[in-house]
Amino acid sequence: MLTLVGASRILVDPRAQSSDAENGAELAIGGGGTIVAHGAPGSEELDVRGCVITPGLVNAHHHLLQSGFRTLPGTRGAAMRDWLPAMAAAYASAGIDAALTRTTAAVGLAESLLSGVTTVADHQLNWPDPSGSDDPVGDTVGIARAIADTAETLGTRLVFVRGTARDAPELAACSADAIVADLLGHDHAGGVSGDGRRQIAVGPAGVHSDSEATFRALGEVAARHGLRRRTQANEQVDTEIALARYGRRPLDLLDEWGWLAPDVTIAHLCDVTDAEIQLLADRGVAGTHAPGCDVPMGWGVAPVARLRAAGVVVGLGTSGGGSNDAGHLLADARLAMQVSSLVGPQLPARTVLAMATEDGALGLGRDDIGHLRPGARGDACVWDVAGVADAGVADPIAGLLWASPGRRPRHVIVGGHVVVRDYRLVTANEDELVAAMERRLGR
Ligand SMILES: [Zn+2]
Repeated sequence: MLTLVGASRILVDPRAQSSDAENGAELAIGGGGTIVAHGAPGSEELDVRGCVITPGLVNAHHHLLQSGFRTLPGTRGAAMRDWLPAMAAAYASAGIDAALTRTTAAVGLAESLLSGVTTVADHQLNWPDPSGSDDPVGDTVGIARAIADTAETLGTRLVFVRGTARDAPELAACSADAIVADLLGHDHAGGVSGDGRRQIAVGPAGVHSDSEATFRALGEVAARHGLRRRTQANEQVDTEIALARYGRRPLDLLDEWGWLAPDVTIAHLCDVTDAEIQLLADRGVAGTHAPGCDVPMGWGVAPVARLRAAGVVVGLGTSGGGSNDAGHLLADARLAMQVSSLVGPQLPARTVLAMATEDGALGLGRDDIGHLRPGARGDACVWDVAGVADAGVADPIAGLLWASPGRRPRHVIVGGHVVVRDYRLVTANEDELVAAMERRLGR
């Protein structure tokens, strides 16, 4: 049991959008790793005086593989149609295998924890060329297992999204089935392990890369195991290619292919019309905003306020290192707040904090993370707001985004275990993770 004592504010209920529940000074996590109403005598105490506590952040859209391929020549300020082949060439020259995904995931997940992200949805899109292998399904299982084992070692919750980017539909479906069997076995509900630390979902990259057959095949896998479905849509090249190839817009195709439904979450959604926003709301689809990718690349800004006003739940994701270069979700929450006024009314800080926590969790089909109400998983961030960068801030919760850009949490807790203490990762040696990745990439 762990009790955090002396907090100045606790953001218990991110979707409540009021400060009523923020004044408790104590947060208690029981022996089962979930939030309990009161601490018990004799439990371990963590002194968090002068700090704000929030739920652990939920990065609802990442591509961990790209953590090994940041700031590559030819990928900054590039149109998406040029960016995609530049990234594909970089993966091909490195060779995608379990050794690579183990090291890139370790770097990406460690960075996530150090910036307060306790749950990462890794949309893993790129796989080895199956033609050169006698066990292509086994290779993909090895890659997924390497990422899942790394998350377990570091102490992050992982949502592994078995993605595709031009994969053969039957092979992708066999691989997704095999990954569910290997990573979850039979002990799961809706693709989530009993302890809530591991989840599997499926997700074609988008209509720009994958065919109707792939969407249908992965949809069948999802139905078979009760998995969430995820994809990306209406991000520059996606709309361009859908119009050129099918004479249709991406959401129109997804609707026809059975992919606009309450179990689906769509990332990016930059260029959406009012009619499309209404369609998403009517179908119960959730969204993921990724401004840290789309804004610097010039690929658009999702109209989050309009999506939310229509009733679409919108989470927040960083997307991958190939376009964002950082897995720092709080920094992207600040950016989301700042750029929101370019495409509608400004999003309040509390709204964006809800997107970075509970709304992102809901888009993953999870009501057990992203908030700090009793019964929730004990995932929390402790933000020290006692320094000069926060002095003079009237509202310390809103100040988490408005003040001190690039802030990192002092402590991070996952399931009642401290995984970052005093700004240092306790589950691994950062230098060794970096060295292992550099070795694998031959740099
Ligand atoms: Zn993305």
